[in-house]
Amino acid sequence: MQHFFRTVEKLSTYNILFKGLKEGSHVFDFQIGDSFFEHFENSLINQAAVKVQVTLEKHSSFLALQIRLEGTVKLMCDRCLDWYDQPVEDQETVFVKFGETESEEGDDVIWILPEEYQINVAQLIYEYISISVPLKHVHPDRKDGKSGCDPEMLEKLEKYTHQEVEKTDERWDELKKLLNNN
Ligand SMILES: [Zn+2]
Repeated sequence: MQHFFRTVEKLSTYNILFKGLKEGSHVFDFQIGDSFFEHFENSLINQAAVKVQVTLEKHSSFLALQIRLEGTVKLMCDRCLDWYDQPVEDQETVFVKFGETESEEGDDVIWILPEEYQINVAQLIYEYISISVPLKHVHPDRKDGKSGCDPEMLEKLEKYTHQEVEKTDERWDELKKLLNNN
């Protein structure tokens, strides 16, 4: 119970109270660190340093949220298996509308109850960071155009792969011998 309470408390940092705001633009800044991802089960990201800026545009009947993010997330390189900082960048706009039911479909519309006075943007931030991570996790090239991968690691992996192939060949040969004998 205590833990649950703390969790909610932490994510309440991402509540934006819009009720008392004047119509127009309002800017909110968030710094996303490692602990943020502890609140999301099955998160593929555990470490990150991402700056998020939410610009809330308040209109009389709806809200527009522009979410801009920029930073890095720690990923394991698919090629050399070393950890690296993957740059991420994204900008998304989502509209918040008020109603008892969702009367319009679309990924960029969130429906909330008319009596609601705040919106929690943690889930949105989590989703946008997650989708800004490329499918291929590979060290970015260095400034001189060379691969950013750990050269020693690559060499070791290559040797290992060769050894595996040789081993497989040996086993295959033995099997052939056995088959020929029968
Ligand atoms: Zn690498």
